[in-house]
Amino acid sequence: MTHLLSAGDLSRDEAVRILDTAEELLSVASRPIKKLPTLRGRTVVNLFFEDSTRTRISFEAAAKRLSADVINFSAKGSSVSKGESLKDTALTLQAMGADAVIVRHQNSGAPHRLAHAKWTQGAVINAGDGTHEHPTQALLDAFTMRRHLGHLNDGGLEGRNITIVGDVLHSRVARSNALLLDTLGAHVTLVAPPTLLPVGVDRWPVETSYDLDSMMEKSDVVMMLRVQQERMNAAFFPSAREYSRRYGLDTARMNRLPEHAIVMHPGPMNRGMEISADVADHARSVIVEQVTNGVAVRMAVLYLLLGGSAEETTDEGETE
Ligand code: ASP
Repeated sequence: MTHLLSAGDLSRDEAVRILDTAEELLSVASRPIKKLPTLRGRTVVNLFFEDSTRTRISFEAAAKRLSADVINFSAKGSSVSKGESLKDTALTLQAMGADAVIVRHQNSGAPHRLAHAKWTQGAVINAGDGTHEHPTQALLDAFTMRRHLGHLNDGGLEGRNITIVGDVLHSRVARSNALLLDTLGAHVTLVAPPTLLPVGVDRWPVETSYDLDSMMEKSDVVMMLRVQQERMNAAFFPSAREYSRRYGLDTARMNRLPEHAIVMHPGPMNRGMEISADVADHARSVIVEQVTNGVAVRMAVLYLLLGGSAEETTDEGETE
């Protein structure tokens, strides 16, 4: 693995290796000193052309817990707002010696361009490109599912029923999840109004449905997606109220899930729209845990891409 551009690029073994490594690294978060020396002297650049709260902070925390130097670059207030291109920005960062570039960009494919045009020598990690992909979100979601559902079978997600609901059309999270969960043997159903399913979804490794109610009893996981108003240039549904009524998760719907089932959301949530406040704060919702797990998963990705050794991962921080 040289870059992490798409969840679909990961083989089953690679994906499981990341999840297993994250499992070991998760314990670092509960130590008084949350740091390992593994990436000391390496430089990680957070290159964010689009707004982000949790993903940027999560990558920053992950890199710092592995002792890397972190440079945060956000397009606002930089020369990008003066018209500097992705290429020139990347070349500047390269000149500063970036070992890894974590990129979020409004255009689908931007991280691929960065990696394939070799504008940077470092490992490129896609932190969300347009409506295309967000592979580390899918990895942290799979990690969270495995921790909750692993006891039901051999510790994996084989045969589990995952229902992903809502604005699939604008969701890079849905695509990355569909690809990764398929690799891990889970069974994915996308539920959305017909207007919010992308053209070509028939080629995704999923089933689709327009009827959320019919999915409740058979779902092991329900993942609610944010209605991405900022990407909508047309009316995709009659009203917010109508959307919530048919595709929102409220307590009555949630109570029909099997007892072991969990509720997920990648954040940020529109409370009252795709998810009610009661459900968001309910014990079976694992939304805050997803954020915690995100740091461990991103540590694992950085560690595996930038090459630490197994000894360094498990040590207590005294040796390198
Ligand atoms: N935070 C996720 C993303 O960046 C999901 C969302 O924005 O709704 O894609």
